[in-house]
Amino acid sequence: MRSFTCPSCGNLLFFENSTCVVCGTAVGYSRADRALLALDGRHRCANAVLAGCNWVTANPDTLCDCCALTRTRPADGDAPEAFVRAEAAKRRLLHQLDDLGLPVGDVAFDLLSSEAEHVITGHASGLITIDLAEGVDSHREAMREQMAEPYRTLLGHFRHEVGHWYWEVLVDRAGGHDRFREVFGDERVDYQEALRKHYAGTPELGWNATHVSTYATSHPWEDWAETFAHLLHIRDTVQTAAAYGVRVTGRDIPPHPLAPVDAEPREQDEEFDQLIDTWLPLSRAVNQLNRSMGKDDLYPFVLSPVVLAKLRLVDSLVVGARP
Ligand SMILES: [Zn+2]
Ligand SMILES: [Zn+2]
Ligand SMILES: [Zn+2]
Repeated sequence: MRSFTCPSCGNLLFFENSTCVVCGTAVGYSRADRALLALDGRHRCANAVLAGCNWVTANPDTLCDCCALTRTRPADGDAPEAFVRAEAAKRRLLHQLDDLGLPVGDVAFDLLSSEAEHVITGHASGLITIDLAEGVDSHREAMREQMAEPYRTLLGHFRHEVGHWYWEVLVDRAGGHDRFREVFGDERVDYQEALRKHYAGTPELGWNATHVSTYATSHPWEDWAETFAHLLHIRDTVQTAAAYGVRVTGRDIPPHPLAPVDAEPREQDEEFDQLIDTWLPLSRAVNQLNRSMGKDDLYPFVLSPVVLAKLRLVDSLVVGARP
């Protein structure tokens, strides 16, 4: 995430701010400018109160681009706090997709609460369903323990599910199946059967030499979605560190294990190498910072050479989609 500046006094502001805490100027996020701007002549999103949205619109009483992507939301009064949290995560997601230059296309969201009905977080050709109960800490933490996951967040769900949409866009529609299968395996194996097997069994020993999470081992589509989410985790966190001048330079930074490169180095390969060279020492340092506060690791994952090769492919397709 970038850092932001008050348009009136120059104070540091954050992505979620709707007022400058120093000079009191009312501000809102303009998607077109990717900046926090003073309201003059602009209007708050119609969901400003309901969804805690700080984005601006050109016309009064209209939804901002991000809120407008929500096709279904709970009835007024149902799960209001979880809805606010989900919309906040969705704004971060959309901001990052814009930043990466990824076309948002037909993406839409059903934000439903499993407290009111049966909800399965998932995707269907760009229609993403998110269980709002995942915005309730006690529920999400119980699910995390049940699934034996080291990390589970609303933002992570959004990044994973939208990753399925970008498989359709960047691989399927682009005809990139051969390259995908070389790195991720053949996605034509039965998906439902693969998921059933995954949930019935225990992960194979040594899974983390080839996959970023146990769920990624279930099927090449899930491996892609998990890897896509990790690319977004890494790119966002590296951008945040840069925005605040955080650099890790100390204490014997070991070189990262080299990812296998299958072709002539391209410009984006160098950019990817730089990203990973920044990320590995940074993630080690922030993990230690978290431990100093008695918290679990910020990034409790291992990026093996095989996983790095997967990340490199996803990154090259994302970078290649830039307008
Ligand atoms: Zn200010
Ligand atoms: Zn909005
Ligand atoms: Zn998935």
